[in-house]
Amino acid sequence: MQVAATFSRRNTRQIMVGSVAVGGDAAVSVQSMTTTKTADVEGTLAQIYALAGAGADIVRCTCNDFDAAEGLAQIVPRSPVPLVADIHHQYKMALAALDAGVACLRLNPGNIRRPEHIKQVASAARDRGVPIRIGVNGGSLHPDLYRKYGEKVVPEAMVESAMMELAYFEEVGFDLVKISVKASSVPLMIESYRQLSAVTDIPLHLGVTEAGPPPAGIVKSTAGIATLLADGIGDTIRYSLTADPVEEARAGRQLLEAMGLRERKNIDLIACPSCGRAEIDVFEVANQAMDAFGDREIPLQVAVMGCVVNGPGEARDADLGIAAGNKRGHLFVKGQNVAVVPEDEMVDTLVEWAEFIHEHGAEAALARVDIERARREAEKDRNALLELQGEDVNATETKIDLIRNR
Ligand code: SF4
Repeated sequence: MQVAATFSRRNTRQIMVGSVAVGGDAAVSVQSMTTTKTADVEGTLAQIYALAGAGADIVRCTCNDFDAAEGLAQIVPRSPVPLVADIHHQYKMALAALDAGVACLRLNPGNIRRPEHIKQVASAARDRGVPIRIGVNGGSLHPDLYRKYGEKVVPEAMVESAMMELAYFEEVGFDLVKISVKASSVPLMIESYRQLSAVTDIPLHLGVTEAGPPPAGIVKSTAGIATLLADGIGDTIRYSLTADPVEEARAGRQLLEAMGLRERKNIDLIACPSCGRAEIDVFEVANQAMDAFGDREIPLQVAVMGCVVNGPGEARDADLGIAAGNKRGHLFVKGQNVAVVPEDEMVDTLVEWAEFIHEHGAEAALARVDIERARREAEKDRNALLELQGEDVNATETKIDLIRNR
């Protein structure tokens, strides 16, 4: 049985990044970053559209020179999502990005250090009502803080860096802020965010920086981000992967959906882990199904199960699924058998039925078939498999008997 759980979220202030609310009661948003040269307007826009399609609510682009700023001026009006300009060392690039019309800036306090420059950027952002993310990064901590804390990057130094930057902003009456305190070490990142959330109600942007390529990068990012979200900490998230950024957006979206923090948008594909009973290569068919559904906006849970003996029962909570048996695929909707198809048509059938259910609903899908006939066919293949493999195909009972007789 599926258990609906919700994580209560810490109360933060709300800011607007263009049309996307961040903080307060707004849904946790997903961010990603382009890898193109921002001056390449068409290439960058194509990537922004791909990221938005994969689930990104907000996209960041680097603004590292004037060509990039000019690119942003052309990209902003054509972007499907609000854009954040990533500013590195030159405060003038922040001013140029504001001229280009971006919805938010990201400043690294370790990089732009002169108070008058920081205040000049904050004043310009204040006048335009554009928020700034204070993006503290463990790898580029302000040298004074690094020395102060014994040449170590510790949570206290990360939080102090964010608070120092915030104090400059406050001096010019600017408070449209969100903060991140990212590190590549998951424990350091978790503790930094915990300490930060204890001292401020500013919305927080979560991430594990330089997490690396998947799958390890996804595991690290998820460990850090999910732990904090489960504590109610975090208003917007980014996976920083050494991969196509579409994977970042997809992972972020999937995490939020898995945690019940966002409505499901795409297929949630579940599959059995396979075992001695499996009648098909479950990994292969599950991957084929993932490819076939891609990023299509069909918010259903779909199951791929290795055998008809246990598959339909184990996946009875799925909206629909398919289980293999005797070279055939047994399709089931809400746990009820609805159709039998040749094994090589399993994936196509899943897609076709998912589209039908998405459009007309499960009741209509069940009404269009002879459930009794499908059930009889499934029963026939189930019994044939049981006869062939026996009840204890994984030899579980035999192993238990062995253990008990020791
Ligand atoms: S019993 Fe069937 S459904 Fe369950 S793991 Fe094995 S093959 Fe998959």
